[in-house]
Amino acid sequence: MTTLLRNCRPMGGTAADLLIEGEVITAIGAGLPAPEGATLLDGQGMLALPAFVEGHTHLDKSRWGMGWWVNEVGPRLIDRIDTERATRRGGFDPATQSARLAREFLARGTTRIRSFADVDTEIGTAHSDALVALREALRGTMDIQVVAFPQSGLLVRPGTLELLDQALRNGADIVGGLDPSGIDRDPKGHLDAVFGLSEKHGKPLDIHLHEPGELGAFALELTIERTLALGMQGQVVLSHAFCLGDVARAPALYAALAEAGIAVATTAPPSRAVPSVRAMRAAGGRIFAGNDGIRDTWTPYNMPDMLQRAMLVGLKNEFRRDDEIAWALATVTDWAAEGCGFAAYGLAVGARADLVLVEAETVAEAVVATPPRRLVLSHGRVVARDGVLAS
Ligand SMILES: [Zn+2]
Repeated sequence: MTTLLRNCRPMGGTAADLLIEGEVITAIGAGLPAPEGATLLDGQGMLALPAFVEGHTHLDKSRWGMGWWVNEVGPRLIDRIDTERATRRGGFDPATQSARLAREFLARGTTRIRSFADVDTEIGTAHSDALVALREALRGTMDIQVVAFPQSGLLVRPGTLELLDQALRNGADIVGGLDPSGIDRDPKGHLDAVFGLSEKHGKPLDIHLHEPGELGAFALELTIERTLALGMQGQVVLSHAFCLGDVARAPALYAALAEAGIAVATTAPPSRAVPSVRAMRAAGGRIFAGNDGIRDTWTPYNMPDMLQRAMLVGLKNEFRRDDEIAWALATVTDWAAEGCGFAAYGLAVGARADLVLVEAETVAEAVVATPPRRLVLSHGRVVARDGVLAS
């Protein structure tokens, strides 16, 4: 199939046409001739952005569409973990919920998602397996990376390590880790275990590091040491890494992360200090963004809308200038694709034709105003108009 998208403004530049052959953008320019039989789309002078990338979410936990859940959870991390496990026993279908939320993401212009999937001794690999099945069902429309994630702890719950191993054999793409000291209380043991799984399966690693201050910085340094020792540069992500917002020696840590090729995934929550997008980029490192959980028992907040996440990244990082706000967009577009390892990304010749049209003059206006997604293309096909999926 050949499509000519006429009169859009890539990244807010001058009006151009995009020629799409099959899944791929093959030409960008003004006044491109329409090949015979091509489908014509009118961009109406709208701003064109590359389709968004969600770099850190939990599709398998969301209660999206299930009605409002009254949150009465206690203040500690372990309260949230225990509540979630208890609530799940009341009936929760991760396959239905993951599919529901993925479709909401697509309608709002996101075509690539990295999602964690809980693995524990109660649910086994069911959530990870459900996400692997969804990844396959959506292949050709969305790209989903599945992280097998020990949400309830790894070493503190004997049997979990074997289940993670099983989830990876069943097709999960990435090894997940969690607070080596704060939850497992054994940083060396935890990191040895997850790096060991990563090596065994030849799969990347993504560790939730909520641990604050020096405790988090210590785990971060242990992660850097192992990444370098195993030659895993470019294969490791630290999610949250709140400690970077806490410790005075953060500049040295940003530099060490950059040198080790470890990317940071941030959700830019308003509630605490976070890694600085500016500092990470200035150090030559990689940083990208995600929502984390959306409408689950952990949080009632967040939306499957990466423009909104970019806006929150901009707010949290105190970005005011247009060129700074463009960095906020990059955390959910180019930088997220690079950090997660999604290939053929971007609004460029040779990239896959995944793009979004919105009514905005500039990138900064799109981030700040989060306008409706007028048109979403994935794999060269129109998949949504005005927030409504084509099928
Ligand atoms: Zn998370």
